[in-house]
Amino acid sequence: MAYENNINNYIWYPWLNEQYKEIINFYNKKKFNAIIIYNQVDNSNNLLCYAISRKLICQSNNYYKSCNICSNCILMANNNYPYYYKLHYSTLNIQKIRDIITDVNKFSFKYIKIIYIINIEKLTYSIISALLKIIEYPPSMTYFILSCNNISIIPLTIKSRCICWNMKIPNENYSIKWLQNIIHDKEIIIRTSLRICNGSPINALLLLKSNLWNNRHVLINTLNNALLKNNMVLLLPILNTNNKLIYLLITLISDTIKLLKNTNKLFLINLDIIDVIKKSLHKNNIYKMYKLWNNLINCWYFLNQKNNINRELLILHCLINW
Ligand SMILES: [Zn+2]
Repeated sequence: MAYENNINNYIWYPWLNEQYKEIINFYNKKKFNAIIIYNQVDNSNNLLCYAISRKLICQSNNYYKSCNICSNCILMANNNYPYYYKLHYSTLNIQKIRDIITDVNKFSFKYIKIIYIINIEKLTYSIISALLKIIEYPPSMTYFILSCNNISIIPLTIKSRCICWNMKIPNENYSIKWLQNIIHDKEIIIRTSLRICNGSPINALLLLKSNLWNNRHVLINTLNNALLKNNMVLLLPILNTNNKLIYLLITLISDTIKLLKNTNKLFLINLDIIDVIKKSLHKNNIYKMYKLWNNLINCWYFLNQKNNINRELLILHCLINW
């Protein structure tokens, strides 16, 4: 279902409707000027932030929707509203923040201003400090809409001055129905993809359409072979091609551990290949599996958080010491 409330037909996802209404309700009932909208699993929070910006800028008295006909709505639809500052962490610096503060103060009583910053968890400490000052003493008619994917690393000083809004992921069965309107894979394949993507329908769709999904099958065969020969180093060539394959391997090993512990099927991730995993169970020792799982998680963390790492050596170290 497309979001019909705007002149530009930007993509809209139906599960955002309820959350959009809740947030607008909140704006209508309480006076606040800064919100952090966070969601761990995908970027649909950015879509929601944009829709909220449009509603705040609209001059009509509609309770939920922006009108699409006032001059502000038309300017927004054409990306020409001059007091809408959409900022990405990668292009933000102290000077830019200062320039915006000057700009915003100049028009403080005339127009609604929106300062919308994407991925605030990636801002440097000095930019956060500059931002804090303006959020603490905001110019009138100015709203801050901040989005992030990892609220746990946002400084308390910022969080305490904002409304923190946790975006919910849609129910799994609801997401399956939505995805079945777009792709024609079996339900078990879609459910597996959703579980790998922590419930995000957008990421599940991207995964199913990507080469990574084909590579996952190569990974599964290589893992079975490695278990059969008791030689995890066989996984090195494929793991060295893409960090995401390490993540997929972590989910496979975690399912193996769960099956060894007779965990309920409800809690498994790779539902489409349970029979394949079961075949190799007799070859597995749960303690060795735990060690491999732990090694892989550390490896995944280092590859994503640290630069200048010899990835091949790191993966090799993880696979040898299991
Ligand atoms: Zn309007």
